[in-house]
Amino acid sequence: MISVFGSANMDLVAYVSQAPRRGETVTGHRFRTIPGGKGANQAIAATRAGARVAFLGAVGDDGFGAELRATLKEAGADVRGLREVPGSSGIAHIVVDDDGGNSIIVVPGANGAVKGPSGEDMAAIARSDALLLQLELPMEAVVAAAQAAQVSGVPVVLTPAPVQPLPPELLAAVTMIVPNEHEAAALTGVEDPEAALEALLEQVEEAVITLGEEGALYGSRSGTRLRVPAVKVRAVDTTAAGDTFVGALAVARSERLDMEEALRFASVAAALSVQREGASTSTPTRREIEEALD
Ligand code: ADP
Repeated sequence: MISVFGSANMDLVAYVSQAPRRGETVTGHRFRTIPGGKGANQAIAATRAGARVAFLGAVGDDGFGAELRATLKEAGADVRGLREVPGSSGIAHIVVDDDGGNSIIVVPGANGAVKGPSGEDMAAIARSDALLLQLELPMEAVVAAAQAAQVSGVPVVLTPAPVQPLPPELLAAVTMIVPNEHEAAALTGVEDPEAALEALLEQVEEAVITLGEEGALYGSRSGTRLRVPAVKVRAVDTTAAGDTFVGALAVARSERLDMEEALRFASVAAALSVQREGASTSTPTRREIEEALD
């Protein structure tokens, strides 16, 4: 079983020719609501990739909260640890213009009300093969969850996004960190991904740096270094590629695949997701991943 302690957001996406300036009103072409949030994306990716997943987090008492819960449940995630708190669910208000440029406002809402794992969350974490964390919940909550996993000997996989300085007590509880190349550069101050990987390994046991269509780099303190190419595909929407990658990687590792096979499983899952529009709804099923692996 995999636990994900993280965010659930509703993405509210308006497509316009040009984003409005202050005081201006523009008419858009299209509007979509897309369930997202890095936590929910990773939970759905891991569920669809074949694991039992407990999603631990919070939604508001609004319609978006009900929809987020239903989306997670339909995907097959265990949502008993998804609490409802008064007020709005987390949202991302996104404006996409005709050039594909975007501007985004994230309002944490219910995610911001999560101050730490509950007793039941801790029990779920202790029973897990891995705990997946991101940085869209308050830092104190993320640290507390990581420490709960560490106490139980459960590996902690951290996606350090949105990127921000990581407190030493978090790093001390993280087993594997999985930044993309921009996050890796921001965390280490080193632009070159191979050098950034070495810098990360001074802080954590294992690290993966994802490089978009260039694939991913893996390293461990025990000396392993791997490079996996991305699968060549026509990308339509790379939203949540990283979350799909992490969700699938955790599933493969929980099934005791070796690291090279696990990275390939994750790359295939992520490549399938970028060929479709949307975030969580674009993540592939186990069957699709296995067919693509053949
Ligand atoms: P993030 O979504 O966090 O920015 P990346 O863009 O690095 O992360 O993508 C994560 C993984 O998704 C990559 O390591 C790769 O396996 C896969 N991926 C991303 N973009 C593409 C692409 N254009 N074609 C194929 N695979 C991709």
